[in-house]
Amino acid sequence: MKAVTVNPASRANVEVTEKELRPLESGEALVEIEYCGVCHTDVHVAAGDFGDVAGRTLGHEGIGIVTEIADDVTSLSVGDRVSIAWLYKACGRCEYCTTGRETFCRSVQNAGFSVDGGMAEKCIVTANYAVKVPDGLDPAQASSITCAGITTYKAIKVADAKPGEWIAIYGCGGLGNLAIQYAKHVFNANVVAVDINDDKLALAKESGADMTINPATEDAAAIMQEQCGGAHAAVVTAVSKAAFNSAVDAVRACGKVVAVGLPTETMDLSIPRLVLDGIEVIGSLVGTRKDLEEAFQFGAEGKVVPVVKTRPLEDVQNIFEEMEQGKIQGRMVIDFKM
Ligand SMILES: [Zn+2]
Ligand SMILES: [Zn+2]
Repeated sequence: MKAVTVNPASRANVEVTEKELRPLESGEALVEIEYCGVCHTDVHVAAGDFGDVAGRTLGHEGIGIVTEIADDVTSLSVGDRVSIAWLYKACGRCEYCTTGRETFCRSVQNAGFSVDGGMAEKCIVTANYAVKVPDGLDPAQASSITCAGITTYKAIKVADAKPGEWIAIYGCGGLGNLAIQYAKHVFNANVVAVDINDDKLALAKESGADMTINPATEDAAAIMQEQCGGAHAAVVTAVSKAAFNSAVDAVRACGKVVAVGLPTETMDLSIPRLVLDGIEVIGSLVGTRKDLEEAFQFGAEGKVVPVVKTRPLEDVQNIFEEMEQGKIQGRMVIDFKM
């Protein structure tokens, strides 16, 4: 089968190679991949930013059909459409796994990083961790919900946004656009979209943002404090220290700042601001299987529509280069049947 693998000597650190899959083991299923989205995390993995994983099959936004199951598998049947997400498998027994926080399991395995992922014609999954895609959800759109969708849906859950409250979304790219849609159409919040790119703000407005701010020319925090008394929460998807700092200034007393983007710098955090105003700063990491099930369902109901563009497998190095150069609007999804 063809697979997109990490190769530091190749253009954009990736290549399409021929790979053989081993036979299924207990608890596993074989999935024939239809679509797999390309995520910024894949670019980092391929570049070796999280360690050397040369030869690894990339992909944690895979969607496909189950074609074979091990004898002991009861959670999936042949013909089911399922996802291959970043949360590939966890231990199922630790304090995080047993309390609904399985993404923080200390022995978690991640598709396309610590195990071979879904950017291939076929993929072996742990049946109990492959979440089913509901009927009525377009599989190419589902691939985007598998990572960007669940990540932002979970972040807004962590932000604890209530109907009618103000939530600021910093960074309106692939993640931010979905955050706006979940915040507006699922949580019924009022949404402030913040981005330094006017094109992304225009798309944010179309996707439901009530207010848009470009911090390159305006003071986002000051505007929010003045026009809505400060946001109740902010979700920061932007990979920028300035966005994190602004988010802390933009929330009202007892506001929450939820961190999703991963700039490598540290943020400034005024301790008096935290203490005297009761501000919370919280990290949010993708989401659980249950979160993904919910995020998929809202997609199936048409409340959230990911912006995706399908591309053939031969384009994969171009896609990785375009991602590195920040040229992409919405999500590029490899169509394995194209
Ligand atoms: Zn991703
Ligand atoms: Zn665990």
